[in-house]
Amino acid sequence: MLTARTKDGKKICLGYNYKKETLLYFRSREEFFCPVCGEKVVLKLGDQRMYHFSHKKGGECRDSYENESIYHMEGKLQLYQWLLRQKIPAILEFYDQEIRQRPDIKFTFKNQKYALEYQCSPIAEEIFLKRTSSYVDAGYVPLWILGNKQIHQKKNNIFSLSNFHYLFLQQTVEGSYYLPSYCPEKKLFHLLNSIVSYSIKNAFAQNRFYSIGQGEIDYLLNPECAYQINLIQWNSELEKIYMNWVLHPNPRQNSFLHDIYKHNLNLFLLPPEIGLPVHSSLFIQTSPIIWQTYLYLDILAKKHPMDIFTVQEVERSFYRRMAKKEIIIRDFPLIKPVNPFLAVMEYLLLLDKLGIVALKGKMAFQLIRTISIPQSNREREEMKKIFFQKYQPMISKQ
Ligand SMILES: [Zn+2]
Repeated sequence: MLTARTKDGKKICLGYNYKKETLLYFRSREEFFCPVCGEKVVLKLGDQRMYHFSHKKGGECRDSYENESIYHMEGKLQLYQWLLRQKIPAILEFYDQEIRQRPDIKFTFKNQKYALEYQCSPIAEEIFLKRTSSYVDAGYVPLWILGNKQIHQKKNNIFSLSNFHYLFLQQTVEGSYYLPSYCPEKKLFHLLNSIVSYSIKNAFAQNRFYSIGQGEIDYLLNPECAYQINLIQWNSELEKIYMNWVLHPNPRQNSFLHDIYKHNLNLFLLPPEIGLPVHSSLFIQTSPIIWQTYLYLDILAKKHPMDIFTVQEVERSFYRRMAKKEIIIRDFPLIKPVNPFLAVMEYLLLLDKLGIVALKGKMAFQLIRTISIPQSNREREEMKKIFFQKYQPMISKQ
């Protein structure tokens, strides 16, 4: 940790870049105590690691600072100094007596107090939710920033994101979503935006980097986000998933595979219209391949051209699948609640653009043409080729 108190209650904060001689002098004259548990702590002034305070072995501190890595301490120190440079009142390791919580940094910006948590190691969702709600109850805006080490880029624009990562999702004023992270080694903010998930653990996303030297707080609280997706790349990832499901099926996918075989469909012969990217797909944990296939089976396949179906009908099928846990949604504690059905509506509106359905009024659609199901691999490849040529630009920038 980076703050401690002296015997007479004075606070010593290592966020001020003291010289080593000054700290050596302090150390020779003062004793230091943990502001949280009151136990004695030692000021470490080694040349290898950054200067910090450390509890004595065996001490029991509620906040267990000792698990803090240098990466974490470096990061919060840089973030703290970054706020000070912008003349934003900030307190490092502020201990809020009332809620017995200690955000890494407390700061006030535009008359709003913020609790910044720089999270470099995974924590249980329960703890995340508990801390978040106690900050909110005490009038803070919780600002959780991921340690950039926690973000695993699989390849360009493809990331492996778990439920833990999605807890950190933030919303811009314009309503775009992004995941903020910070790397103290590169001194860079790395913001993932335009996140479109295609399986429980994988998603496409756009990168945005800001150096802490150039970026101001607005870049972090309200970054520019631009939706963009490469349909061909998207499709090639889906193909890998099909293969993976068949080779290593889990019970959930088994029930899906069983369902589609029952309807004479084959995972490898799904038409290109099923499994399309939409903006809000991240609100549904279940892959778009699965929920879009269900929509096809429950509604579209049962209609004839010119038939009308209502949004309510689609909603009923969606919630029925949800109740049976065939469709699972994601929770995002830091943003305003979003109805996951939004993703389904976006998909229907995309099918409208593709000329498969047509929106009738506000609450109904008409089937214009049935989606044709390829009968062979060759036919499917042909269909995909034509589909991509025709719709790639439109789907890439919805
Ligand atoms: Zn302590």
